[in-house]
Amino acid sequence: MLHLFDTARGAVVPFEPSTPGKVSIYACGPTVYGPPHLGHGRNQVSYDLLRRYLAWSGFEVTFVSNITDIDDKIIERARNEERPWQDITRRCEDVWFQGMDRLGILRPDHTPHATGYVDEMVALIQRLVDRDVAYATSDGVYLDVSQVEGYGLLAHGELDQLRSGARIEANEEKRSPLDFALWKLAKPGEPSWPAPFGDGRPGWHTECVVMSLDLLGEGFDIHAGGNDLQFPHHENERAQAVAEGKRFANLWFHHGMVEIDGEKMSKSLGNVSNLLDLMDAYDPRAFRLLVLRAHYRSPIDVSDDSMRDAEAAIARLDGFARRFAGRVDGVDADPASIERFRTAMDDDLKTPTAVATLFDAVNRANKDDDLEAAAAAFEIAGVLGLELRGEAASVPDEVLARARDRDEARAAKDWAAADQIRDELTAAGWVVEDTADGTTVRPG
Ligand SMILES: [Zn+2]
Repeated sequence: MLHLFDTARGAVVPFEPSTPGKVSIYACGPTVYGPPHLGHGRNQVSYDLLRRYLAWSGFEVTFVSNITDIDDKIIERARNEERPWQDITRRCEDVWFQGMDRLGILRPDHTPHATGYVDEMVALIQRLVDRDVAYATSDGVYLDVSQVEGYGLLAHGELDQLRSGARIEANEEKRSPLDFALWKLAKPGEPSWPAPFGDGRPGWHTECVVMSLDLLGEGFDIHAGGNDLQFPHHENERAQAVAEGKRFANLWFHHGMVEIDGEKMSKSLGNVSNLLDLMDAYDPRAFRLLVLRAHYRSPIDVSDDSMRDAEAAIARLDGFARRFAGRVDGVDADPASIERFRTAMDDDLKTPTAVATLFDAVNRANKDDDLEAAAAAFEIAGVLGLELRGEAASVPDEVLARARDRDEARAAKDWAAADQIRDELTAAGWVVEDTADGTTVRPG
């Protein structure tokens, strides 16, 4: 039985969907004002893994992920570039999905847009005002969090720090520094929608609560996001549902962050890396493997070294696939490998063990020409979303050139240089063989 860490309970708990056999998941999607970065790549791989594993385990999964297409950052970029904001959001959304396709991410079953839900958000805010848990100020409508039972469930210790108000902008009209905007009144020139409390736009926290409850219903199974969204975003989504007397997510799934060369990814450091650039430089599957080699709640470090290493591992998988493609049809997967994989994944998606199980099966298949191990490897790779390429790949010119260099070194009896080139090619995933025609290289 699958066990997952639930942030609200602070423990790994058995996962039981509210409707047997079906799982409903909501994941916070992108704000479309720029290209996806590595953190997005990681969050998408984490959700994709969860979906694929649940589906493989026999559940019917409904996955909803929104597009935030109205936001201060979008408005700011539109103003700076003197373009309609819709140009930016449409273009960025296309780029987003093209990028995620390259990464092998299954498309969501539903992709609600914030701008498509404004009426429903206005209605929710009005109901909260009517219940007297929300109040108007001169710049918008705020939720009074002191009236929300269990406020701080996801924030844990962070909340005490915040109660002092140190990290919250001063706004004398707010009853508490923790109260947050449900509706922001429009300033001149800003996009706005009509509302009984004044023309304006919804706050970010309001869209997710409305869209998740509308598409998945009360008490949906899993709410997913990065651990940077626990507070305030997820806390505040939940607060609105609770304030309205509704049941919200049953389990909170939070993944860890991405570090680049050992530094936490942040805009202030100027090291926000573009996922599309990374996928131009490296096989996108290598990024997926790098993510899967770490547990989803741990931070991961992306560097050229770690990407090259992951690429070499992908080359080994492709070499295996070329050898066994078409030979495992109808072969039962080795039950011990499948069982080890399932046990690891059921334990809060322990992908480091799952990936090790995959490579063990590949090694065993290669060593003993073991078709059952090969069938297990193909199956596990599929659940992990790692596409294996079994077609014969051509050898790049630069690799062939190194093979010729090795022949020259051997002709000159420079054995050290010849060995060094062989090691270099082997490390890059090539199988190097000496034949009557000289050095031959084929994918490993
Ligand atoms: Zn959200």
